[in-house]
Amino acid sequence: MDKVIIFDTTMRDGEQSPGATMNADDKLEIGAQLERLGVDVIEAGFPANSQYEIDAVARVAQEVRSPIICALARAVPGDIDAAWEALKQAARARIHVFLSTSDIHMMHMLHKNKEEIMNMAVNGVKRAKSHCDDVEFSPMDATRTDPQYLYELLEATIQAGATTVNIPDTVGYATPEEFEKLIRSVFENVPSIHKAVVSVHCHNDLGLAVANSLAAVRAGARQVEGCINGLGERAGNASLEEVIMVLKTRADYFGVDTNIDTRQLIRTSRLVSDITGLVVQPNKSIVGANAFRHESGIHQDGILKERTTYEIMDPKDVGLTGTTVYLGKTSGRAGFRSKIKELGYELGDDEFTKVYNSFKDLANKKKVVTDRDLEALVADEMRVVDEAYKLEQIQVVCGEPGVPTASVRLRTPDDTIISAAAIGDGPVDAVYKAISQLLSIPNVLEEFSVKSITESTEALGEVTIRIRSGDQTYTGRGTSTDIIVASAKAYINAINRLVSVKKREAVSQ
Ligand SMILES: [Zn+2]
Repeated sequence: MDKVIIFDTTMRDGEQSPGATMNADDKLEIGAQLERLGVDVIEAGFPANSQYEIDAVARVAQEVRSPIICALARAVPGDIDAAWEALKQAARARIHVFLSTSDIHMMHMLHKNKEEIMNMAVNGVKRAKSHCDDVEFSPMDATRTDPQYLYELLEATIQAGATTVNIPDTVGYATPEEFEKLIRSVFENVPSIHKAVVSVHCHNDLGLAVANSLAAVRAGARQVEGCINGLGERAGNASLEEVIMVLKTRADYFGVDTNIDTRQLIRTSRLVSDITGLVVQPNKSIVGANAFRHESGIHQDGILKERTTYEIMDPKDVGLTGTTVYLGKTSGRAGFRSKIKELGYELGDDEFTKVYNSFKDLANKKKVVTDRDLEALVADEMRVVDEAYKLEQIQVVCGEPGVPTASVRLRTPDDTIISAAAIGDGPVDAVYKAISQLLSIPNVLEEFSVKSITESTEALGEVTIRIRSGDQTYTGRGTSTDIIVASAKAYINAINRLVSVKKREAVSQ
């Protein structure tokens, strides 16, 4: 079957969602998961933004080796060179050059005429081509660009060396019929179009991003760009998990295939949600908590008799195993190791021992340990590896009436123990105040969210917090059966990220 290339831009367009800032560690974690998911191309960032962004994209390029790693650049030499600087260590690199081409953008934003824009596009592609073979060109705002001009631009950039040409519906204005027609007309009017892959990049302002992307596939587009959980600028990009599952479920209709391991979708969605702090709505297609839940008695009855009566997809295909690990306190390392492997983790001996020990702790507190719990444990332990400050002890007194009081003991990077106590409006506030006293690193708490990982009162709680220091934000996460402890872990995790970024900045200055 014909393959559709899946191009993930969660770490570039997705990062443009308000509040979804990712640091280099986040990008590495998401990159590794996208590799497990099997996406073909990862757009890891916009290196012209800052030296920090160059370094973050470079780390993804060095460590995520199977997919093509792509970086975005405006059609100006400085941007293109910054993109290459970030990408040069990648196993396979792609530079993505973009430029506004609609009259409204050319007139109001670039103050250039069509000929000047054409030159910039061609020169940009040529410069990118001097760095690497794989070059993508995007005429921004293509759906509002004069079609004749669009064809000429695409022809010129393909001749200059673009191997993928991307048609973005930047403002989310197109409808599926129109967009399908536009893509067909590109095939009919651009003589060299067979030398490039035609890609689409749709925005969801009118809720049509997925529909438009699929209409384009019908018209012959063979790359779809989008984000996990439909993140992205404004109302977001095409939701990749939806595009992927439509192509799989309706292969009879579309007649195309992808390289995606769909069983990784749920985990990828959760990771992106955890890292960005942007929660997935329960009724979201494919990855929402209710996507495979049946409430009505008639439906439940049907499902029990024959799953396909009310289910068009098998929950297992998106990674909802629902299986529980029947490993208890007494279970051995071997069984635990094989379970961890089965979940797709490769852990070194030290990491494995840490995860195994926290699993034993959890098994003491909680009767049934689920796959989801294990994922959280692994994520939690992986986060602790290089941490500067460690939580040694925490105690909280609260109740009604009474003043919430917390005492906290931390181990510092140079291995001394420091402790402090504080009172607060509530137990979490008291914990934060005690930690702030100890560290005296100025920061503002911007966001705090708690969710339970599985159902039941003994569930693991996961806390995500976001702190701001200067113009940078740092996300921290922590997991525990005790949400106060999880909050303290999350705060210390965020502080440690802040400290490591500051250290790195100090080195590079
Ligand atoms: Zn976009």
